[in-house]
Amino acid sequence: MGCASSIHISDRVVYHSGKESEDSHSPQQTNATQGNPASGLPVKPASCKVRDFSFLSFTKPSTNRTPLTEVQFGPMKLFKDQLQVNAIRSEEVKKCVCVCVCVCVCVCVCVCVCVCVCVCVCVCVCVCVRNPLCFCCRSIRAITSSENTVIVAVVKRPDREEASVMPLINAGFNRRYVENANSMACYNELLQLEHGELRAQFKLRAGNAIFTALEQSQEAIEITSEDQVIQYVNPAYESVMGYQQGELIGKEIIEVPKSEKNKPDLLETINSCIRKGKEWQGIYYAKKRNGDSIQQNVKITPVIGQGGKIRHYVSINRPLNDNNKSDKPGDRVQAESQTDIQSSKHKDRRKGSLDVRSTTSRGSDGSSQRRHSSMARIHSMTIEAPITKVINIINAAQESSPMPVAEALDRVLEILRTTELYSPQLGTKDEDPHTNDLVGGLMTDGLRRLSGNENIFSTKPPHMPSHLTAPLSLNDIPPRIAQTMENEESWDFDIFTVEAATMKRPLTYLGMQIFSRFRVCEFLNCPEAVLRSWLQGVEANYHSTNSYHNSTHAADVLHATAYFLCKERVKQSLDPIDEVAALIAAAVHDVDHPGRTNSFLCNAGSELAILYNDTAVLESHHAALAFQITTRDDKCNIFKSMERNEYRTLRQAIIDMVLATEMTKHFEHVNKFVNSINKPLAALDENGGNGDEESVRGVLTTPENRILIKRMLIKCADISNPCRPQELCIEWAGRISEEYFAQTDEEKRQCLPVVMPVFDRNTCSIPKSQISFIDYFITDMFDAWDAFADLPNLMQHLDNNFKYWKGLDERKLHKLRPPPE
Ligand code: AMP
Ligand code: ZN
Repeated sequence: MGCASSIHISDRVVYHSGKESEDSHSPQQTNATQGNPASGLPVKPASCKVRDFSFLSFTKPSTNRTPLTEVQFGPMKLFKDQLQVNAIRSEEVKKCVCVCVCVCVCVCVCVCVCVCVCVCVCVCVCVCVRNPLCFCCRSIRAITSSENTVIVAVVKRPDREEASVMPLINAGFNRRYVENANSMACYNELLQLEHGELRAQFKLRAGNAIFTALEQSQEAIEITSEDQVIQYVNPAYESVMGYQQGELIGKEIIEVPKSEKNKPDLLETINSCIRKGKEWQGIYYAKKRNGDSIQQNVKITPVIGQGGKIRHYVSINRPLNDNNKSDKPGDRVQAESQTDIQSSKHKDRRKGSLDVRSTTSRGSDGSSQRRHSSMARIHSMTIEAPITKVINIINAAQESSPMPVAEALDRVLEILRTTELYSPQLGTKDEDPHTNDLVGGLMTDGLRRLSGNENIFSTKPPHMPSHLTAPLSLNDIPPRIAQTMENEESWDFDIFTVEAATMKRPLTYLGMQIFSRFRVCEFLNCPEAVLRSWLQGVEANYHSTNSYHNSTHAADVLHATAYFLCKERVKQSLDPIDEVAALIAAAVHDVDHPGRTNSFLCNAGSELAILYNDTAVLESHHAALAFQITTRDDKCNIFKSMERNEYRTLRQAIIDMVLATEMTKHFEHVNKFVNSINKPLAALDENGGNGDEESVRGVLTTPENRILIKRMLIKCADISNPCRPQELCIEWAGRISEEYFAQTDEEKRQCLPVVMPVFDRNTCSIPKSQISFIDYFITDMFDAWDAFADLPNLMQHLDNNFKYWKGLDERKLHKLRPPPE
């Protein structure tokens, strides 16, 4: 048997006897089973029976041990025994394997029947075969440590040197070694085996320990490939997410349903972070198999392989219970910045982390193709939003930026990721208290809520006036009322005289006049009588007891809207349907206003606040009620003859404008207008004198910009009272102050939080409050609107009025007017 002698290297191979093999309690036994020192758990290699370990420990030499070799496996340090070889003659294998399978204890004895047997932690079995293809390696694998065994076929020199090794590989051999009488050749072969395949197998066996740790972990763990195909999830992951065993493996991440509770750009943020090799940590809502969302603290770590390439992503997910919930944006920002610190801490470790795939060389060409397409799909999921594009551009710029710039851009990204992009942050303590209170009162939705209050405002059906059946036509307007509306097209028009002349029903009369001027009935194809009934119905639902938010305010806003619609730039921008929508929106925009702010309603737990979830409560109610009033009764349904699509467009525009009057969105609307309209128009002006007509129209008439113009128009109309002639401005200031005072009185009476403490009738300085209101809300907005629509008379009034209030304030006067001389 040439093979036995050619492989025999007497001073390296450790022989053992059957006697030794009975030493089943040798100290090496625990080494062989590779217990997990932390958990004390025995580690089973995958598909490897415990008797394999008995077999290994029996055969381990208990004496004459040579020093162990240190092998680094990622962050793990392993100690490898000296190479040992089992050599088995093919004729004897079948017999010995049979015995082994039947009587486990006899394994060593029967293996010893072979020419020589020796084992190490990684087993190399050399099979000396005359005809290797008669030999079935499965038997050997079954009794050794399974997949981590290298089985070498020692064959006679084949007839043709280039004969294929495939039949041997198919039979289960890992290598072919051609018989060689030269012992150095054998020795070299063994050395190559030891440093190549055996060492790799040795490392892979340690993977069993790692998998056991993963399987036992309480934390939900998911491993994906670089192209985000799920390769592994542990039992904790499956049980948290409600998936059956193995159900997720092989799926692409994007195929797994996502929760809608995450911010729209979160996925993109995560991807852009981890694709750069950075760890991402933060709060993420995952969707369970049953459709429920689960809030988790997620840490995703890219695993870097050879050549610095990302080979896997490991995601560790810890469900948050109610006690440690942390989904505030601030926490997330903190989580993200912690991530950076952590990722730099782990950088060195990552460098050393091993790509298991590279050692198993199971890469496929198809995978990189799929990676590109799936990345593209993930990208396109969120790329829609312009803000996502901006974040992507900044992310890309960061990569090539010096440190200070990259850090500054990080701060920019933090700001961009918050939702309140347009709300100036006010230092609440040291700012002017009037501004604070106005901002708190107008721009919050009841954050200071008090629990357990009775509902004081309820949703009730719209009020229908009894005289609806007796409509008047425009021609029937009594002359003394008509007279008060003669200069209705002028900005200086006095709405209060109409209020007085119409017994507090200015909206119906002024509405008839203005709607008729804009040919609204023709557009809607509705009889004048229906319009009149509609105006009466709307007006009846304004509270005449409110000092400010009554139908006179609605009529005033309607007047301002009509005035703005006549401005050249506005006419250039809007279509007839936009004009009609603007006029209707102005008339209904505060209908059924209770004379209290949104914050008040939320604090009081009113039915409206509950109905609209404390969000744009009043504005939602105004818009909804307007359509209820209109459609409830055919006699006042001005939309009745409209074609369905046109009605839907009109309705959408009306709702959008009414909602735009909500003050929490004030800065958003103004800034969008400045950025999308003012600035591009200014740029066109600079480039070519007045800008060529075509380009200007290009800016003005896009659907998005028309929406911004309409929002700005109704907003400016709504709070245009500081731009009215001085007497009118003073009257409005008095009315709004009185309404605020009444609210403060009621808050005190009902022990509700006082939303705007400066509006206390005993202490309030009205001039100061007006200065703050103009400074904070009015000046910038009207500068922008004036730049667009050209409103010199309004700006002049605004200037005068501001000076008026300043003058009173300098004299330390608190009332609307100076005391008589
Ligand atoms: P609206 O309720 O739609 O009229 O929204 C406009 C907001 O601006 C309201 O909350 C008013 O209370 C507020 N407002 C209007 N004019 C003044 C003013 N002169 N002083 C203070 N607040 C005002
Ligand atoms: Zn209003």
